[in-house]
Amino acid sequence: MLDRAMDLADELVRLRRDIHQHPELGFREFRTAALVAESLEELGIETRTGVGRTGVVADLGSGNGPTLAIRADMDALPIEEQNDVPYRSVNPGVMHACGHDAHTAMLLGVAHLLRQSLANDNWHGKIRLIFQPSEECGDKDGISGATAMLNDGALEGVDAAIALHVISDLPAGICYFQDGYSLASVDSFKAWVRGDGGHGAYPHKGKDPLFMLGPILSYLYAIPSRQINPLRPTVVSLGQIHGGATSNVIPKEVFIEGTIRSYEKEIREQLWEEVEQGFKLSESLGGSYEFQLTKGYPAMLNDTEVNGWIKSSASDLLGEDQVAEREFGMGAEDFAFMTRKVKGAMFNLGAAVPDETKRHHHTDTFDIDESILPIGAAVLAETARRFITGS
Ligand SMILES: [Zn+2]
Ligand SMILES: [Zn+2]
Repeated sequence: MLDRAMDLADELVRLRRDIHQHPELGFREFRTAALVAESLEELGIETRTGVGRTGVVADLGSGNGPTLAIRADMDALPIEEQNDVPYRSVNPGVMHACGHDAHTAMLLGVAHLLRQSLANDNWHGKIRLIFQPSEECGDKDGISGATAMLNDGALEGVDAAIALHVISDLPAGICYFQDGYSLASVDSFKAWVRGDGGHGAYPHKGKDPLFMLGPILSYLYAIPSRQINPLRPTVVSLGQIHGGATSNVIPKEVFIEGTIRSYEKEIREQLWEEVEQGFKLSESLGGSYEFQLTKGYPAMLNDTEVNGWIKSSASDLLGEDQVAEREFGMGAEDFAFMTRKVKGAMFNLGAAVPDETKRHHHTDTFDIDESILPIGAAVLAETARRFITGS
């Protein structure tokens, strides 16, 4: 499988660069989806387009048996690319800065590889290729690509789902795994703390929301260390605070926005209450508050059995020294919605470019080592082949 994937390397680079050069934001992946559908149809694979708005789904094989879904995301980010490369983004202010271009190219590689296997092997079941839109953000109702695809039945009849994410600052070609909870649930909140403002010289005549912020911030930052079981990963971070306009006017209102992350449902729900509790302190200081919680992605749960399938394919293809365990951290992924619907697992594929430039995800100098494209495609395709042939 790896040799056959290596033969595809040039084609995968071509596809990845084509997608990279023409990045599109969430739910606007029109060109990308058309390219995906066209590439699949060239391989004689029937596609369903417009799934989850701009997503594409294709089934391979028709045997009676279980179905494995492989998911790639197609969306880019609102970033102006700074890389001086021939495949630099031609869309101003939009860039593939998370590697979803590579995910899409690799899943097209999987289609190539499995189509070849289909002819030779004894298939008992189906492989569903899922090209989803908008992983990075939700629409105005908070619906992101995975949920949109689920709502359109993309996982109907599916028994298990797998995916990969490239990581631009880990050694190229190494596959990383984590069992169980591996990425966090992510919810955001907005709050307005209100007093009645007044002259800075006469603070005793009004209620000062900036002053109220003192105990509120202490409380919020102490939630992980004082309110939550220390054995449960928890993050409460503030992203912005705005209040006031000049030196001698006490404002009427302060605005605060932040993110809440955790692994377990009970902790997640406890956090929703704890954070609001922090803002309630304004009331004991004579003020008031308004609190808005926006629920985002759940935590990603990697199924140990499914992880095991990918892991053994990876170590057989690449060698055991190319497979490692790693804590994924408190980031989030909307593939988590799919791992809640069916058992599933996502692995990480190191993709660091061997140079000195910082190429962190979601930055304008992000890039990957393209030599990993056939590796990722081979690991996914081999996992699928074994799933279908039982060997
Ligand atoms: Zn991202
Ligand atoms: Zn991503």
